[in-house]
Amino acid sequence: MTAPHEQLTTRDEEAIDVNTPSTWWRSTALIGGRWRECPQTCDVENPATGEVVGRAAVATAADADDAVVAAQAAGQVWAASTAAQRAAALGQLAERLRGRRDELVAATVAEVGAPVTVAEQSHVDLAIEIIDSFARIAAETPLREQVGNSILVRRPAGVVAAITPWNYPIYQLAAKVGAALAAGCTVVVKPAELTPLGTYLFCDAVLDTDLPAGAVNLVPGRGSVIGPALIEHPGVAVVSFTGSTTVGRQVGAQAGRLVKRACLELGGKSASVVLGDADLDAAVRGTVAAAMLNTGQTCSAWTRLLVPRARYEEAVALAAECADALVVGDPTSRGTDLGPLASKAQLIAVRTMVDDAVARGARVAAGGTAPVKGLAGGHFHRPTVLADVDRGDPITRDEVFGPVLVVESHDGDDEAVALANATEYGLAGAVWSADEERAVDVALRMDTGQVDVNGAPFNPLAPFGGWKASGLGRELGRIGFDECVEWTAVQI
Ligand code: NAD
Repeated sequence: MTAPHEQLTTRDEEAIDVNTPSTWWRSTALIGGRWRECPQTCDVENPATGEVVGRAAVATAADADDAVVAAQAAGQVWAASTAAQRAAALGQLAERLRGRRDELVAATVAEVGAPVTVAEQSHVDLAIEIIDSFARIAAETPLREQVGNSILVRRPAGVVAAITPWNYPIYQLAAKVGAALAAGCTVVVKPAELTPLGTYLFCDAVLDTDLPAGAVNLVPGRGSVIGPALIEHPGVAVVSFTGSTTVGRQVGAQAGRLVKRACLELGGKSASVVLGDADLDAAVRGTVAAAMLNTGQTCSAWTRLLVPRARYEEAVALAAECADALVVGDPTSRGTDLGPLASKAQLIAVRTMVDDAVARGARVAAGGTAPVKGLAGGHFHRPTVLADVDRGDPITRDEVFGPVLVVESHDGDDEAVALANATEYGLAGAVWSADEERAVDVALRMDTGQVDVNGAPFNPLAPFGGWKASGLGRELGRIGFDECVEWTAVQI
């Protein structure tokens, strides 16, 4: 039988239009509320086709310096704003983003390769929801509290350098900009080289609000140039970085040397733990869906499925069936489940990790590294399920960042917890059980930042971030807001 992902999707009637509009051809940085022309630019490619769909500026370290100075100047005004003013401006920003939803979705499909339904729900709508949530947090969080004979005051930390990755560019931007503006901070944004277009559109929306000029500045360009320029700048108080653990370690070391706060959201290798009494069907289906979301390019993806030994073969067969049923193809089509990976380099990295695991003895239960038929030109990879890997094999420990799920067996709750914790990461996870108390007990023995019981939904008010090599600090909600706050205690 031909798996649906070999039947391909062609552009269907409901497919969205990603013909490149003029707003995707940029050559500017945004500094102090004005667009500044940059002599150098780079092309932005559609990973589904390889076509150039837009262009972005390659700003310099000097542009980054000027952006920080502009953010400091705007900070003089914004730090003095009231909670109500911050809430109103964020509410206005959410409105402006809502007005640009279609543009933001199209840019996300075109530059990330995210399937349109994923771009809508998990990228753009979630980003707008997060900005809305920070409007509420700005309104509700007390800026002064009395503790004994102290007045504790939440004060804006200063300029936040927001460095974002390519996998969820708009969502990550919203998490960083929302928290910073809510706390009275101003921002300099550095998007990933692969995905600057949505960030430009987000900044267009910012310029359409009453926020002071320079509250949000944009310096697209090379991470190795703009990143260090921002981190080293004495005017930057907080570095909010999302990306790989490798670069995160450098960012943390650089910030640490300067005794500067670094909030690091890094990689993951999260386990979905199925306990003996769980509904196996729901657990496997939920895990495959989470592992493959955004074509597996999700830091918090559950990429390890840990099932009771007695049900191992059943779980492998079911996971393979779910993966085979996913449609890989044109991300503009509403019938598509998985688009391309974001770049050729990412495709090669994923293929290499899968091929290496197979060479060490892994069984390919679904997918594999053969090209997806009919999809030449794009960076497509089949949804893949691997089984029969050795305990501690690199594929059970290292982040793949592609549509690859590994199924492992366990001999009870204690071993499942030990296996789940046996990675250097600790970002997310799942527990499945008919007994909620037992599931929560297991969840609380997992050394990880977020655990979902029985497929519970994502909560944008809960702190998001990792233990161990998955990072430092948290984003979202009140705790994310506090990453942009400095405290002063006044004793009376
Ligand atoms: P990356 O580390 O290559 O790049 C992230 C950002 O850092 C980009 O904007 C890049 O230009 C910039 N950068 C590169 N070199 C830099 C330097 N020396 N100093 C400062 N900035 C620099 O990561 P990526 O490949 O864009 O993203 C994928 C990774 O991000 C994955 O490992 C994924 O798990 C992780 N991620 C984590 C989270 C989370 O919340 N924990 C969310 C999304 C992605």
